[in-house]
Amino acid sequence: KLYNQVQEAKGNIRVFCRCRPLSKPEVVAGCASVVDFDAAKDGELGILSHGSNKKTFKFDRVYTPKDDQVDVFADAAPMVVSVLDGYNVCIFAYGQTGTGKTFTMEGTEARRGVNYRTLEELFKIANERTETHSYNISVSVVEVYNEQIRDLLATETSKKLEIKQASEGFHHIPGIVEAKVENTGQVWNVLQTGSRARAVGSNNVNEHSSRSHCMLCILVRADNLITGECTKSKLWLVDLAGSERLAKTEVQGDRLKEAQNINRSLSALGDVISALANKSSHVPYRNSKLTHLLQDSLGKALVGGDSKTLMFVQISPSDQDISETLSSLNFATRVR
Ligand code: ADP
Ligand code: MG
Repeated sequence: KLYNQVQEAKGNIRVFCRCRPLSKPEVVAGCASVVDFDAAKDGELGILSHGSNKKTFKFDRVYTPKDDQVDVFADAAPMVVSVLDGYNVCIFAYGQTGTGKTFTMEGTEARRGVNYRTLEELFKIANERTETHSYNISVSVVEVYNEQIRDLLATETSKKLEIKQASEGFHHIPGIVEAKVENTGQVWNVLQTGSRARAVGSNNVNEHSSRSHCMLCILVRADNLITGECTKSKLWLVDLAGSERLAKTEVQGDRLKEAQNINRSLSALGDVISALANKSSHVPYRNSKLTHLLQDSLGKALVGGDSKTLMFVQISPSDQDISETLSSLNFATRVR
């Protein structure tokens, strides 16, 4: 059984919480885990702070450090495949640097993440529907850093990219590379190209990637061979910049600007999602490039049908990280 049915959450927003294992250096340093998974099966997570005080949080799913990529994808799969039925979908990983955002979304060659598994699943279903549907699938990979969009599949990197709205309401980036993909072999290559391009022009790859949003967009054009209907839908898979607050001493010059931009875009994302959850009449998509890009896939799409959103809130189990962990869990609770 591949799919797990996740109970309908409020609106179309779901939140899954994933905790990574304690790392070797943490174990060596004597760090303790502060996370209680006793009720993880019911979507509950406890954080043991200051001795007896336990704070509990409720999510649509809670993954313990033992849960693997397959378990996670089994829950995400029903959402991702709805893009084939015309839904716009957005999945993103939120959390402090080092908590497993990239592990969940990209994964490793041996333990592939949501991005690869999503495309693999889309091809599988598309192949089962060849008598009734014809699908055209393409991918784009962009990075948003300091409110600037960079095309990670472009060979020419200096082009300035802007978000435009087509007359029918669809948001797009003129000039961006849309790589047509037809099989999983091509997908892995495209994802690797994007991943490698992220490192270009930065001295410290890990630092740079923790300060930018890495966004994979899967565009699906579906032709219904029976009704003649044609739909276009979009799936965004986003590895967000690290949500940690910086030490005051670190925050100067370029780092200050970076930190402000990250802060601004992550707050904008929180504001948009809570506005949607509260059915607010004004949804402030335009406050950051991140939310502007995701507009079609967050909330009620202007064209096509509804949209679905899934947030992974990633946490560390270590007592050293407890304040960042609580801040991430509070962010996630606010949007739920
Ligand atoms: P982030 O992208 O949030 O900064 P990473 O995905 O780079 O974090 O993860 C940090 C480290 O922890 C990596 O070495 C990664 O392989 C490991 N890791 C993260 N989550 C898990 C997990 N669920 N199981 C095993 N290792 C993990
Ligand atoms: Mg990362």
